[in-house]
Amino acid sequence: MATSWTPESWRDATGIHMPAYKDAAALSATENTLRNYPPLVFAGEARNLTADLAKVAEGKAFLLQGGDCAESFAEFHPNNIRDTFRVILQMAVVLTFAGKLPVVKLGRMAGQFAKPRSTPTETINGVELPSYFGDIINDIEFVAEGREPDPARMIRAYSQAASTLNLLRAFSNGGYANLQQVNAWTHDYMGRSPWAQKYKETADRISEALAFMEACGITPETVPQIKGTSFYTSHEALLLPYEQAMTRQDSLTGGWYDTSAHFLWIGDRTRFEGSAHVEFLRGIGNPIGVKCGPSLEPDALLRMLDTLNPEREAGRITLISRYGYDKVETGLPTLVRAVQREGHPVIWSCDPMHGNVVKSASGYKTRPFERILAEVRGFFAVHRAEGSFGGGIHIEMTGQNVTECTGGAVAVTDEGLADRYHTHCDPRLNAAQSLELAFLLAEMLNQ
Ligand code: PEP
Ligand code: MN
Repeated sequence: MATSWTPESWRDATGIHMPAYKDAAALSATENTLRNYPPLVFAGEARNLTADLAKVAEGKAFLLQGGDCAESFAEFHPNNIRDTFRVILQMAVVLTFAGKLPVVKLGRMAGQFAKPRSTPTETINGVELPSYFGDIINDIEFVAEGREPDPARMIRAYSQAASTLNLLRAFSNGGYANLQQVNAWTHDYMGRSPWAQKYKETADRISEALAFMEACGITPETVPQIKGTSFYTSHEALLLPYEQAMTRQDSLTGGWYDTSAHFLWIGDRTRFEGSAHVEFLRGIGNPIGVKCGPSLEPDALLRMLDTLNPEREAGRITLISRYGYDKVETGLPTLVRAVQREGHPVIWSCDPMHGNVVKSASGYKTRPFERILAEVRGFFAVHRAEGSFGGGIHIEMTGQNVTECTGGAVAVTDEGLADRYHTHCDPRLNAAQSLELAFLLAEMLNQ
């Protein structure tokens, strides 16, 4: 790996899961256009997130990261943004109350478009075409023209990310995210859901706490943390031509920041030694995540941590484990021990989604809610046993009432998956399942 980093040094490393654009001139014209567009986030905000995450690394805050597996042009609608944002806030309130810790809210939103796929092509009825790599690269429709990677899609993705982020910022600080309001939604929602009776006690206690605070004069009018919230964005930094074009030198510090989102992560398939994605991310100042699956050896992880965080800055690295419900308790401890032995300050977050994908009898790719829950339980059990802090959760979810993951209190059945299966990639928890997960997590945090 090169010792000197530049925004394009990744081009000399091994880049996989990226499209081969046929029209090089169109690609470079797009990159040039993006280079001259405004940054989506400001470097100072990324540093604020690092500081918030440093608190998680110390065990003094909790991280909640969630959103679509893949955002899409088709699902781009203000109601979808609003509803996902709202459920994340509702989950955060429940977790804050249960864990007695601030919750750092990080959306897989406003830029989560590019997808790694298990095969570069797919064949349907004898016709072989490139796989779908996310709306920023090609079209989900199985037609030759649409499946050809098109650089112009990056401009549309940028513009969708910009308007999504604009709405999220408006919601966060314009009064919509007011804590009393968020709690009222949860109550209203639970009032309409018979299954929610079992979590009513927690919800009622939150209401009591808020009423007490109000009586003490702690209201949206008097305290900014009640009126609004901080909300950050993140995505997998997969499509490096796009990420490079969005990378700018901060005029305050001289450091380089990827201004496409506050937080970027490296996927499980692109975190190998010598990878272009590791090379790119080591040079940017944003806080970064690394997905850690069963194939990651402890020594390789330690070498990667030395590459990505040589200064050992707290809050810079979030390790997002994604083993699967039946592997987490055997696989994760060796990573935790290695990191503890070397004293790297990391945030441990649990992605209980990607190791738990199954094909349902009805043919849909799904994730059983019980397995998601079992992985979360296993994750906390490992951290309790190792004396480390299980500090976060990373989930694929939506505020919509989709039927993509089976199970939950309002059980989605195998046969029911066809009803509202809308995801462009992996199956997401729906609003009810997400909120239920937050209540169950709250019970675990209280143990
Ligand atoms: C994802 O988060 O959508 C993803 C592809 O995850 P992983 O890299 O962990 O497989
Ligand atoms: Mn996914």
